[in-house]
Amino acid sequence: MPNIRLLSTDFDGTLIGFDSDGRCSTEFALAIREYHAGGGLWAINTGRSVEHAVQGLRRFDPPVMPDFLLTCEREVYRRLADGQWEAHGHWNETCRQRHEELYSLAEELYTLIAARAEKIGGIEMIWEEGRLVGFVTRTEELMETFLKEVDLLSADFVDFSYQRNTVYLRFCHRDYHKGSALGELCRLEGMDPARVLAAGDHYNDIPMLDGRHARHTACPANAIEAVKHRVRLSGGYVADRNYADGIADALAFFERKEAEGFRTTASVGNVM
Ligand SMILES: [Mg+2]
Repeated sequence: MPNIRLLSTDFDGTLIGFDSDGRCSTEFALAIREYHAGGGLWAINTGRSVEHAVQGLRRFDPPVMPDFLLTCEREVYRRLADGQWEAHGHWNETCRQRHEELYSLAEELYTLIAARAEKIGGIEMIWEEGRLVGFVTRTEELMETFLKEVDLLSADFVDFSYQRNTVYLRFCHRDYHKGSALGELCRLEGMDPARVLAAGDHYNDIPMLDGRHARHTACPANAIEAVKHRVRLSGGYVADRNYADGIADALAFFERKEAEGFRTTASVGNVM
């Protein structure tokens, strides 16, 4: 049994590059096959919807499929024996209810954000079922500028938050993000955070990289500086290689580290 029992990886920017062919790297394939064969569980923790995550996985074509999909930076699914995905517990339902409540309470804020975006230009608002759920900016610089305005507009709405990934942004309730979704998965699976490794590359990964839900953290070399900083603060591993190869290195690093820790503990125990 591997020392890491649950691996929570982001997908875009962590396992695949934005300009890559989307295929699984040879080294990650070897690493995940060995890890999974030893009994380790794997969750993809992504901003994608289930449908888009499945599409991405089909192209990625890993030697083993993930056991869990944590989607839209908030929902938790598990894989059934027939390969289909089902909601894991009641989390997704509660999550949707709380977002409904937030939308009702903060409707005025969404209207203000949409109006401001239209005035600035270069910002595409994303609507789902008649509701504003996020936006995409033309450049990352424009995202930085517009976010300052969003922060000012939303200052009085305490439950309002957002998840950002490059030029994409999704509004959310402050209690729902990759970290709390991972926490719920650990609760459902009876998983000790000391046996969990989380890896990501961008702002929306930071909530799962603070050491709370995953005691072990990592990022590939291509991660943004804010993520590298967060990973270092939580005593994690910043890889020297990009994307999936960096995550394969992280997995090997923590397996080695844990094994050495156990050996040290065992020898101290023997002396005593
Ligand atoms: Mg990413």
